[in-house]
Amino acid sequence: MVLPGARAFLVCVRRGGPFGRKFFMSPAPRNRDTGNQLLDRLPASEYSQLEPMLQRVSLTLRQVIHAFEAEVTHIYFPVTALASLLTIMEEDEPVEAGTVGREGFVGLSACLGVELSPHRVICQMAGESLRVPTRNFLEAMDRGPELARLVRRYIAYTLRDASQTIACNVSHTVESRASRWMLLIHDQAGRDEFPLTQEFLAYMLGVRRQTVTVVAGALHAAGLIDYRRGVVIVRDRAGLEETACECYASTRGYYKRIVI
Ligand SMILES: [Zn+2]
Repeated sequence: MVLPGARAFLVCVRRGGPFGRKFFMSPAPRNRDTGNQLLDRLPASEYSQLEPMLQRVSLTLRQVIHAFEAEVTHIYFPVTALASLLTIMEEDEPVEAGTVGREGFVGLSACLGVELSPHRVICQMAGESLRVPTRNFLEAMDRGPELARLVRRYIAYTLRDASQTIACNVSHTVESRASRWMLLIHDQAGRDEFPLTQEFLAYMLGVRRQTVTVVAGALHAAGLIDYRRGVVIVRDRAGLEETACECYASTRGYYKRIVI
């Protein structure tokens, strides 16, 4: 079953703008290869201050990284793991407020002086992450102007991303939003095959799982992805870019301009 007009939509909509492909994967000057793009951008003098406190950890699917309104004890820098920031609703299912992969970090509120997590942060894609105790990280920010600058600019990016998503949710079709999220996860995962449960896709899109089934079926029917048993395989990246709403190119371009 395909949403009415979905095939035509997938074939006809051509968006994505002139920003190019795989923004998170674009080669940017790096000073090392930790696997996290923000850490890789730090100058050696500041990274050497942080390095002794960095701990590499393995995160499992659905592992709680930060509980809702619990103390943010560590700042996480995903490497191969992907974190999902969930907004908790009293009477409804959680809604995903954002995902964080190797392009960013988790624990932003603590950097703004708020010790308690405004989201439930869980691991959406199992993998590795680096982490540092929050107290040590804040001290490193005080001592390191480039680290502080990167954190501020990443925060500016997340604010822009959040406002773009609000506009996206009221302006763009569920199919084009699904393509946007697929592209985002593709970038963050750094590989063509990645796990993505219907549950998470429903959180991302703010729709019921039945709608997720229909939308994923439309993307599959258009030859853009395979989606079986909670695993996505991207078959046609360029096609996804064409069907995605403008928000993908807009926010990724912004990240590239101001963060890295
Ligand atoms: Zn959009």
